[in-house]
Amino acid sequence: MATSIETMKSFMNVLKQYANDTVTSGIAILDNAVREVTRFGSLQEAINSFVNDVTDTSRIADTAQRLKETCGIVLGADNDFTADTGAVSGANAGNGTVKNAASIVPETGTLAELSMPAAGSVTSHSYTTSDGKTFSFNIQWPASFNQVQDRKWQTLDTYDPRAWTTEELTNQTFASNAVVNEGTVTYTAQQIRDSIEAITKGMEHWWVAESAKLAYDSYGLDFNGKTLKVNYFVNMADVQAATSPADKKENDTTPADVIEMGIGLPIYGDIDTVDVNGNTRFAGGANQCYLDRTIAHEMIHGTMQASGTLKGYDEKTSSVASMPEFFTEGVAELVMGLDDYDGQNTGKIVSLATDRAKLADAMSLAPGTGTSIRYTSGYMFLRYLCQQNLGYQPDDTVVTTAVDTSANTAQNALYNIDAHGKSYAEQLILGTMSGQPLPDADAVYSSSSAAKVMDYGTAGSFSALELPGFRSSDSLSLVSWDSSRNPILASAQNG
Ligand SMILES: [Zn+2]
Repeated sequence: MATSIETMKSFMNVLKQYANDTVTSGIAILDNAVREVTRFGSLQEAINSFVNDVTDTSRIADTAQRLKETCGIVLGADNDFTADTGAVSGANAGNGTVKNAASIVPETGTLAELSMPAAGSVTSHSYTTSDGKTFSFNIQWPASFNQVQDRKWQTLDTYDPRAWTTEELTNQTFASNAVVNEGTVTYTAQQIRDSIEAITKGMEHWWVAESAKLAYDSYGLDFNGKTLKVNYFVNMADVQAATSPADKKENDTTPADVIEMGIGLPIYGDIDTVDVNGNTRFAGGANQCYLDRTIAHEMIHGTMQASGTLKGYDEKTSSVASMPEFFTEGVAELVMGLDDYDGQNTGKIVSLATDRAKLADAMSLAPGTGTSIRYTSGYMFLRYLCQQNLGYQPDDTVVTTAVDTSANTAQNALYNIDAHGKSYAEQLILGTMSGQPLPDADAVYSSSSAAKVMDYGTAGSFSALELPGFRSSDSLSLVSWDSSRNPILASAQNG
């Protein structure tokens, strides 16, 4: 049925209904979105199923195979930067074209031939989406490219923008973290200036517009009429970039017109000034190695803040629950993907898929940002939701004869049913199958909503179904109803 992009667009459409709402819990909003695009009744139910399926070695022992079947995640090999990233618009997520670490945010030409915008200027940009729409936005550049914002080594716990100052780049040096140790990298002011120039050119000419296009093509979120205000900061460890509404009071999650995006020079202070993707891999970076991927991630925060779909509230001053961190960060990762080796993505995914307690913990409903493992778990979760919706595919094994009840079969059954009709088949299937006598039609009907009645057309479409608990001696029955609750199809066979 739905492609992964269609699933995410439907998901976002539910979030858009709350654009001007600042009182509904972010978790309740996600409950509604999950119900809209999956067979699950709530976010927590989907999380429980996800954690179970992804870590259930009794069903699929091999971790890579389990990730592929449950989430569609195809892990890239170590040091292979040609592998599909798993971006929702790429090949692993079912959309045909391989999008790798370099191509997920596309560039044409070279950095050297690009011009710098004037310091303090506002530049105009536009992009045309895959469905032919053209949107425009502005970038507001810092007053000087010879200055940086000093964030005073604040952490997320001591975060206080009022204490930040602006520092002129002269001949000083900057450290990559507050603690001078083996892992500390020191940058000269000249390196910082060179990095600012390369990053500014990349953002001005490619990365922001291409990321905005990706956001629309992947999720249906546009950046039309908005302004992105860019700054560069030093003296804040472990933050690659940060994006927030600039024209909203705290706890106002309605659509913002001005979005501020800070780029962290402690991590990007020595960027490759030739590579069009903004490569930091040469410096041994353990973080996302191409800055353009990070810009794509940040632009999901930006387009969500600009459309009122990101619901984050201050726990101290608001009683409204925020959307959990695994979602707000996972949805940003999904636009550019984590299936490949870049940024040690694959190792993080495997560590979660092989440790149920760790995965369950990472799927906490707590809000926040910067908890690395939740970026990964949230990404995996959204890939899982999309995979549940992908529908029957020829290489999804469907057994028609003897049934191994321990096999991963419920999903295949659901895929198959979804491929032949409308969604939300679970109640119907579980209620009418498993070799049990046909249940009372009304009882089953009432457990699925009127809007979700299936309308399977022809008999015989479901000869290849199986469920856990179904024995080869059982009969297999399926009933569907029309809008007047009359059975329109009943079939039975011996398995
Ligand atoms: Zn983020």
